[in-house]
Amino acid sequence: MRRNIVAGNWKMNKTFQEADDLINEISEGLDELNLRNVDVIMCPPFPYLELMTDYAQEANFGVGAQNVSCYETGAYTGEVSAKMLQSIDVEYCIIGHSERRKYFNETDEMLTLKAGMLLKCGILPIFCCGEELPEREAGNHFNVVKKQLETALFGLDPLDFAKIIVAYEPVWAIGTGVTATTEQAQEMHAYIRSLITDKYGKEVAKNTSILYGGSCNAKNAKELFANPDVDGGLIGGASLVAEDFIKIIKSF
Ligand code: PEP
Repeated sequence: MRRNIVAGNWKMNKTFQEADDLINEISEGLDELNLRNVDVIMCPPFPYLELMTDYAQEANFGVGAQNVSCYETGAYTGEVSAKMLQSIDVEYCIIGHSERRKYFNETDEMLTLKAGMLLKCGILPIFCCGEELPEREAGNHFNVVKKQLETALFGLDPLDFAKIIVAYEPVWAIGTGVTATTEQAQEMHAYIRSLITDKYGKEVAKNTSILYGGSCNAKNAKELFANPDVDGGLIGGASLVAEDFIKIIKSF
């Protein structure tokens, strides 16, 4: 079901105490809001997931991981499985973030496996896609995003694909302070929805939440979220400051 969503990606930030303080502050801010028209998701580092799911029992947000193993179980030192996430009530998981693609060689083929593992455990994947700056400058951005979606996800059956949340994150906008214009965001989101329509039909496409990510902040969120095909944001830096994150949520 298509929902407005604001998801915070904390990346590799905060000590345990700092994480506890931040989640406390955000929870207090959320208490004062009427959150009927937007789902809030927090994606902290692995060691803080359980802390977050504890808070989430009282507060009004969902909890997501930032990564998952493409393996099910066994001798994979350092990996965290979908089943482990499920066992601590994690409901969402980011996959294919450009930082994982770039620094950890994550491929679309691996993302197919990760999405499958998550779906098997009832966890909703937040699938990141987006082009690098030279690809946009060469006018190749639509093809890049199409290939990422087709390779990683379009093998899923319609019932499984319907559980996917897509996050369009132009790589040149992530953590740079350069945001896509509302026109650039809307154009790509509409294109992604058209790809989903072609593959899975109108009903699935109409019900897919497509988030924008890339230097989205308290100042520009309202304008970005006002676009008809932008259903919210995946927020990095600004999700680490409670006041800013709450302001972004209030943009709906
Ligand atoms: C992200 O990491 O997904 C992201 C969008 O980061 P930022 O908001 O800092 O650009």
